[in-house]
Amino acid sequence: MEEIDEMLETAQMFYDGKEDYKRLTGKIACNLFFEPSTRTQYSFQIAEEKLEMKVISFNKKSSSIKKNESFFDTVKTFDSFGIDLLIIRSLQNEYYKELAGKIKTKVINAGDGTSNHPTQSLLDILTIKQEFGFIKGLKILMVGDILHSRVAHSNLKIMKRLGAKVFISGPNEYLEKDAIFIPLEDGLLSCDVVIMLRVQFERHDKKFNMSFQEYNEKFGINSKNIGFMKKNSIIMHPGPVNRNVEISDNLVECEKSRILKQVKNGVFVRMAVIEYLLRNK
Ligand code: ASP
Repeated sequence: MEEIDEMLETAQMFYDGKEDYKRLTGKIACNLFFEPSTRTQYSFQIAEEKLEMKVISFNKKSSSIKKNESFFDTVKTFDSFGIDLLIIRSLQNEYYKELAGKIKTKVINAGDGTSNHPTQSLLDILTIKQEFGFIKGLKILMVGDILHSRVAHSNLKIMKRLGAKVFISGPNEYLEKDAIFIPLEDGLLSCDVVIMLRVQFERHDKKFNMSFQEYNEKFGINSKNIGFMKKNSIIMHPGPVNRNVEISDNLVECEKSRILKQVKNGVFVRMAVIEYLLRNK
């Protein structure tokens, strides 16, 4: 918990322009993304460059993965290059267990399958803190494909630990059994933060059986239900947003939306995490 507070404080200082960026000059980071990513991948790259690190971005398509090299051997290869930091995103849940004790380079998890997305959670928490000043006691609602969302799984764990009351809503087949369900309308009426989540089509075995319009009417934020939200409540989304599915097009950048602020915070949070990890190296 202290570690989280420390990283969030540093991130806020970076955000406020109070911290010196040039603290990791010349250290080498390799960004290994085995799954597509825009926000996470490029905000890590921007964070590294702001910290004056040298950045190598791995391209799966032009690598020996194409010659059937395994995930493990690819990571071991980068580890042997003698670099300072690996940022890894993988399809595989808890991929880091396979690496534990077998590589020397420090690793930051940039998302593993449906399990965890720790830096997303940190930037979500920073965004909420900037709004309310605290997390404890806040009512936070996550809506959508909870079951396949690593963002939901990370947030459920960490936000509860920080004392928030976390609720979930969405289609029955995408709910987690051990989280507290609330119907969307009740959640909008009572929660301070509403985190909308993308339907994770790429992780489904069964075909998604609903039109986007029907999904938006039942489980999205739309012009009919946004009026239920509390006065000072906010809408968040980790992105990418499917406009007119999770959120109606005209509401993505509405006055309650903090979606682009989350993106901005992503850079500062990732700078803080990198700095925390490499500071005493
Ligand atoms: N960008 C987030 C993730 O990587 C959310 C999403 O893709 O829906 O998990």
